[in-house]
Amino acid sequence: MLKKQSVTDLVRADLEGKRVFVRVDFNVPFENGQISDDSRISEALPTINYLCENGAKVILASHLGRPKGIDDSLRLTPVAKRLAELVQFPVQKADECVGSAVESQVSGLASGSILLLENVRFHKEEEANDPAFAKQLASLADLFVLDAFGTAHRAHASTAGIAHYIPAYAGLLVKKEIEFLDNAISNPKRPFVAIIGGSKVSSKIDVLRKLLSVVDTLIIGGGMTFTFVKAQGGKIGNSLCEDSKIGEALQFLEDAKKLSKKVIFPTDEVITQDFSNESPSQIVNVHNIPDGWGGMDIGPDSIELFNDVINGAGTVLWNGPVGVFEMDNFSKGTFAIAKTLANSSAITIVGGGDSASAIRKANLSEHFSHISTGGGASLEFLEGKELPGIQALKDK
Ligand code: ADP
Ligand code: MG
Repeated sequence: MLKKQSVTDLVRADLEGKRVFVRVDFNVPFENGQISDDSRISEALPTINYLCENGAKVILASHLGRPKGIDDSLRLTPVAKRLAELVQFPVQKADECVGSAVESQVSGLASGSILLLENVRFHKEEEANDPAFAKQLASLADLFVLDAFGTAHRAHASTAGIAHYIPAYAGLLVKKEIEFLDNAISNPKRPFVAIIGGSKVSSKIDVLRKLLSVVDTLIIGGGMTFTFVKAQGGKIGNSLCEDSKIGEALQFLEDAKKLSKKVIFPTDEVITQDFSNESPSQIVNVHNIPDGWGGMDIGPDSIELFNDVINGAGTVLWNGPVGVFEMDNFSKGTFAIAKTLANSSAITIVGGGDSASAIRKANLSEHFSHISTGGGASLEFLEGKELPGIQALKDK
């Protein structure tokens, strides 16, 4: 459960005429100057609508990309335009996020209307979590709402610093994210299966350790596989491997055995000589990859094995693709997993930027119980870390 207050703890009397600063994640992707996916804007609408419907003056702030100072190509103007198409409340856009021009725009803001501030990362003080900058942001509003789950693991001025100066609440998206992830690990419908893929053991070992104590079965796939295979004496050829993590991988397998937890690896693997889509491939036993060849995707037997486990699950948590899905020829395993999960009656939760983008690419998003909007944030949450943005909110 979210032990923090959220916007739904605020009623009309708390909100009417109040200036509410909402940190959203409008860091949307662009293609040829156009927003190519506006789901991050749509995800913030429940909170924005709730506040506007209850008579608040809504001030929105977000980052976009990684600007070094003011960068005209990273202004939020196209985002404001798209937002205006998606809400029935008036939307204005500011050219700054602090300063006298913004202050006067805020003071002219009517109840039930929206002002989108300019990219907060135009100021280096944002990522430095500069207290004076956070205070300046806070001075624009009476209340703060965090609805940017994707940045909740960062202690920045607009995600955490600001909460020192005005009362801070979780938005509906942040609330939903925490509830799904928390419920999955503290009260899962069993059997609870986690599928952890991606490229590196080093980035996932903490989450693997944490999950080991709560899951019934763990499936490990993707580039991480080979460090584990090598640790067990297998031949991995040129596959991705972190030699410095072999000790930890072995320890992990021993811990799993002690806890009687099943850890399942791919049995067969699609391998190539070059890390390229066009490179000819063959399928071999994952423990017997010839020199000069490297693993790119799980093979058909592994797909079947993973599918069987997924089909018997009550809850599945998926983080990380099981192959180099960005290359069409090595995306089969990842898309097969996505499809099985989409058709499964289990509670299906996805945390991980690349896994989520694979699901979107396959057009299967609606068939999942929950797809987290924050890859890094969801991972840190699952690892049991306190997210600074969440920590800063008012306790229940
Ligand atoms: P997520 O963002 O879902 O948490 P990660 O960022 O951990 O996932 O990992 C995604 C990356 O892992 C992808 O870019 C994918 O190409 C890579 N990957 C998966 N399998 C392999 C493999 N066998 N060899 C190399 N890279 C892999
Ligand atoms: Mg990733």
